[in-house]
Amino acid sequence: MLTVEEVQRLVLAQVQVGSVESVAVELSLGRVLAQVVSTPQDIPAWANSAMDGYAVVCSDWTTDPEPVLVVVEEVPAGKVPRRVLTPGHCTRVLTGAMLPTGTEAVVMQERTEELADGRVKFRYPPQRGQFIRQQGEFRWAGAVLIAPGTPLTPAEIGILASLNYAQVQVQRPPLVAILSTGDELVPLGQTPALGQVLDSNQPMLTALVRAGGGTPWNLGIVPDDPVALAEVLTRAKTADFILSSGGVSVGTYDYVERVLDELGAQVLVRQMNLKPGKPLTFAHWEQACYWGLPGNPVSAFVGFWLTVYPALRKALGYSEQDWLLPEEQAVLMGPLKAGGDRRHYLRGRLHQGQFQPFGVDNSANFANLSGVNAFAILEQGQTLVQTGDSVRVVALP
Ligand code: AMP
Ligand code: MG
Repeated sequence: MLTVEEVQRLVLAQVQVGSVESVAVELSLGRVLAQVVSTPQDIPAWANSAMDGYAVVCSDWTTDPEPVLVVVEEVPAGKVPRRVLTPGHCTRVLTGAMLPTGTEAVVMQERTEELADGRVKFRYPPQRGQFIRQQGEFRWAGAVLIAPGTPLTPAEIGILASLNYAQVQVQRPPLVAILSTGDELVPLGQTPALGQVLDSNQPMLTALVRAGGGTPWNLGIVPDDPVALAEVLTRAKTADFILSSGGVSVGTYDYVERVLDELGAQVLVRQMNLKPGKPLTFAHWEQACYWGLPGNPVSAFVGFWLTVYPALRKALGYSEQDWLLPEEQAVLMGPLKAGGDRRHYLRGRLHQGQFQPFGVDNSANFANLSGVNAFAILEQGQTLVQTGDSVRVVALP
């Protein structure tokens, strides 16, 4: 049976980085950048004032410690200075204003005294360069400000806007077909008859796909009938990824792998050595990747995070170190038990290096999924980790 890492490697080897599209910068939040963003100009593009005050030349202090200078012009932000600064003169500047040629320092207004007739008295000698934001001080023209593969947050959107990007090239989200298999399933909103089961996987997987940056495409419930399944899968084939849940165990009605074989898909994974979620199918089918997730909602949840999420990240153009969920060591806030037969992923909450396990850890217990933001890993052979001990955890985003 393949390990989780082996399955992840197999899956990621099949995934291609997707195509690129252009979106308005205002609508680019959360999208992944697909171009290099560099600055065509120095930043700042011209020397400007960091203060409201006066642009001065320093030589005015060599003979007089408290010189009186004549104001030659006022330059607010947005205006271009007309006069070159010369000794005996100063220019009134406001924050962000372009500084006149010859400026050696800016003296803040609070350190001056305005006299009559457009003259100003200065006291303390300025340091050369003070309160000047020099041209190119932050970045030179041509410097890369945002690398491809960067998810766009409000910070990057601010940078893009400051560089006058109205449109930006981003990765197109993978289209992910989602279907549920099982004769027992009824769609949300219907009242299940005794023994029937609500299709909770479809909404959960839809949300997971969105959380991973994909575009969900819901194909509903498919009965446990190979012909019906083949029909829906053929329709789903135009998607980049196809996720089904259920029907991948060894039960009488578990047709998924057989149908995939018949359709000519290359089944690469039939089981994964973990709990919950051992029955997990992964296939490569022409341009599409196919996941047959377990029907059990907790197993489908874990299987998604460990094998589908990394594939979405790769397809979205994230850099390689950001494909898999990050792992860390945490201190256990309650004991963790496992069967020891396989590697276990146990649900709980990670906060500031501490992991709080969640109640009864049964793979059929979806009631304790709320608030889960991490899985603790107990390796094969490990049956107990005590409170206060260190445990390896994978953190969900
Ligand atoms: P299966 O993998 O098809 O044998 O399903 C395993 C268990 O998960 C069964 O108890 C199913 O009823 C349940 N199950 C399967 N699909 C879903 C679904 N879409 N939503 C909720 N439970 C499901
Ligand atoms: Mg089933």
